[in-house]
Amino acid sequence: MNDIHPLEDARKRDAEDPLNGFRGRFHIPQHNGQDSIYFTGNSLGCMPKEAKRYIEEELEDWASLGVEGHFESRRPWVKYHEFFSESLGRIVGAHPHEVVAMGSLTANLHLLMASFYRPEGSRTKILCEAKAFPSDRYALESQLKIHGLDPKKDLIIIRPREGEHLLRTEDILEAIEANGDRIATVLMGGVNYYSGQLLDMKTITDAGHKAGAIVGFDLAHAAGNVPLYLHDWGVDFAAWCSYKYMNSSPGGVSGIYVHERHCQDRELVQMAGWWGHDKESRFLMDDEFIPILTAERFQQSNAPVMTMAVHRAALDLFDEAGMEALRAKSLQLTAYLEQLILSVAKETEGVDFEIITPSEAEQRGCQLSILSHGVGKALFDALTEKGVIADWREPNVIRVAPVPLYNSYEDCWRFGDALKRSLQELAS
Ligand SMILES: *Cc1c(COP(=O)(O)O)cnc(C)c1O
Repeated sequence: MNDIHPLEDARKRDAEDPLNGFRGRFHIPQHNGQDSIYFTGNSLGCMPKEAKRYIEEELEDWASLGVEGHFESRRPWVKYHEFFSESLGRIVGAHPHEVVAMGSLTANLHLLMASFYRPEGSRTKILCEAKAFPSDRYALESQLKIHGLDPKKDLIIIRPREGEHLLRTEDILEAIEANGDRIATVLMGGVNYYSGQLLDMKTITDAGHKAGAIVGFDLAHAAGNVPLYLHDWGVDFAAWCSYKYMNSSPGGVSGIYVHERHCQDRELVQMAGWWGHDKESRFLMDDEFIPILTAERFQQSNAPVMTMAVHRAALDLFDEAGMEALRAKSLQLTAYLEQLILSVAKETEGVDFEIITPSEAEQRGCQLSILSHGVGKALFDALTEKGVIADWREPNVIRVAPVPLYNSYEDCWRFGDALKRSLQELAS
């Protein structure tokens, strides 16, 4: 590997990287006194250094103002969620009034399904993918049960073909068409957490709508990772978490998107709470729920300011870098890591592993999922010993995600080197 891909080359790429400066604004977890090769930003992003100050400011305001802080603090808590609408809109490709930072991902999925999964007559089915994130599967099955339906009959699961690892768009479209008038809602992961496959969300949305279904996406692995145009694609609803690619703290506040045609629908059935009530009259505390006609209508509770303070610190960095520049670097960084992995695989006798993530840029974000036959967990452990923080998924997948905001080409090189040495150890 060193002959074809010298370390100097990686360093040169870093020196030329216009986003190079962002790494220094994060805490990179340490291994034996030096930066680890942190490739698990798809699970929990690194901590922005500014996060602490942002929280401290809110703590100070709470200490000095108490309840007055709702209106009198530097950033009034009563409208704290509003500070995210512009940034989130840019990240997911939506109007600011179509997004809101709120709640947690799985709970938000339930909340949105309450409005967007309304089985009626023979239109009762939900369509999802095999190997959806378990929480999504649990959520969908329980939604069916809440409506007295049977997940065995009413959940349509799209699977990769025999011997393949990825979903084919044609198979998804065919399933939608074949079940056309029986599908109420399509809900899929925009980027699959296991394979790293990025779905063609626009085509799926069009097909779903043509069949008369509502179409939503779980964007946990997509938001902040790949370009999204939710509004223009006409997606009905979406939800994501902010602690993966958006670096906004473990269990930090999540977010939702709802297309304006639904936000503005006064007849929309929803699970209401006081924070979704018309702002002008919220504090009149009237019994009748009058929704704000934006995505804010879905808020049930007042804003969790402390985790939102971290979210602000993180999204400020996204605003500064810009999704376009991040994607441009991401394409190069991931392709570089892929080359290194493939050349190590070529050089190393007797090991059998493959990258199951699509090789086409438009079908993936920054994650690569390495499927290892045979060496599996031992390889993962050997990598961990060498300072790689990656992610192991049973039965035999190692997921690595070079994140353009804080990972470097040198990180990729060091990963390739650690991979090579680990394989040599395992072979001897
Ligand atoms: C990470 C992830 C979750 C996690 O859900 P939480 O409610 O935030 O714990 C759910 N779904 C998908 C697709 C994920 O990737």
